[in-house]
Amino acid sequence: MDADVIVVGAGLAGLVATAELADAGRKVLLLDQEPESNLGGQAFWSFGGLFLVDSPEQRRMGACADSAPTLALQGLGSGKRARVSTAASTTRGRKDFWPAVATAYVDFAAGEKRAWLHGMGVRWFPVVGWAERGGHLADGHGNSVPRFHVTWGTGPAVVAPFERRVREAVANGLVELRFRHRVDGLSVTGGIVDGVRGAVLEPSTAARGVASSRTEAGTFELHAQAVVVTSGGIGANLDLIRASWPQRLGPAPATMISGVPEHVDGRMLGIAETAGARLVNRDRMWHYTEGIRNWDPIWARHGIRILAGPSSLWFDANGRRFPRPTSQASTRSARSPRSPRAATTTPGSCSPRRSSRRSSRCRAPSRTRT
Ligand SMILES: Cc1cc2nc3c(=O)[nH]c(=O)nc-3n(C[C@H](O)[C@H](O)[C@H](O)COP(=O)(O)OP(=O)(O)OC[C@H]3O[C@@H](n4cnc5c(N)ncnc54)[C@H](O)[C@@H]3O)c2cc1C
Repeated sequence: MDADVIVVGAGLAGLVATAELADAGRKVLLLDQEPESNLGGQAFWSFGGLFLVDSPEQRRMGACADSAPTLALQGLGSGKRARVSTAASTTRGRKDFWPAVATAYVDFAAGEKRAWLHGMGVRWFPVVGWAERGGHLADGHGNSVPRFHVTWGTGPAVVAPFERRVREAVANGLVELRFRHRVDGLSVTGGIVDGVRGAVLEPSTAARGVASSRTEAGTFELHAQAVVVTSGGIGANLDLIRASWPQRLGPAPATMISGVPEHVDGRMLGIAETAGARLVNRDRMWHYTEGIRNWDPIWARHGIRILAGPSSLWFDANGRRFPRPTSQASTRSARSPRSPRAATTTPGSCSPRRSSRRSSRCRAPSRTRT
């Protein structure tokens, strides 16, 4: 064995996994195809907007709800839960476990997440954004109240504490970083993934976010008790995006720009599937319709999004504001007394649509949960 655990991908997910494993005393090999300049992956470029539920920042704004975790779960799960549940029950004949994942995540976001990050020095802008509003109205799908907590210092400030922890673990001999190690396959013994193999890429001085060379200088094979794949998404792989495009949206756009560096290539999805992973929700993608080309691109087709706080106003080409809600369907689902979603979510929410005053349901800002 070369380590207790091999982590594939040194983006934020890989850094978090590695830091937590090292804290638990495990020896970790953290591999990445990119040079060290790219440590932290996409998160460095991100706005650092974090999903928190029932936070002191929300309570100060009156954007809370006493049943916030329930509402957050309904927003997260709408549509998705039903689809996964159906797929699981018809194809696997076993109990669907994805709602449990969503529940655990919302519990985390309503519980220890903020204190955990705060303890590492992460702080947030006091105005909570509503970037992921979802179905136009507070009681449609998506977030029922603002939950986008923008980190002071944006993405780099989210990466920093985990990079610090990982580098401390390197200094303590628990973690080894291996850059320019591109994983091309997972080794499986007796049905269990017990290692990785791939190509060592030639050294690169490419700056953060800039595409690096793919020239191979050697090969490697490594083994561990467990392999964690944290290789990011598919955002820079337009072929994969087109192949996975949701049919219900019609044809994929002929022209797309890309909000992510080229290392977000999605290759590990196919590699993991070959090793026996079951991929779900391939057509669930996060695209922004209001992306624009970066005038000073760092990567190919570099697109950016200008984010208004707490959320955007939308106008047509003549400067007229789009009507709200934008469709009859939204109106019906939001207002019909027969709609179970409208009936269950509205009473517990602090929708600014109903009142701009602090709701009597909102508690005072907590001094203890920081
Ligand atoms: C501009 C921008 C703004 C964003 N804003 C927000 C925001 O405000 N809030 C939010 O929640 N999210 C935001 N996101 C999304 C968020 O940053 C990403 O979802 C998250 O950082 C992904 O982290 P990751 O570790 O899963 O993947 P990545 O950061 O993509 O890291 C994966 C790593 O795996 C490596 N890798 C891939 N394949 C292999 C292989 N075969 N072998 C070896 N290494 C491999 C890659 O080189 C990479 O370093 C934003 C993203 C961008 C780009």
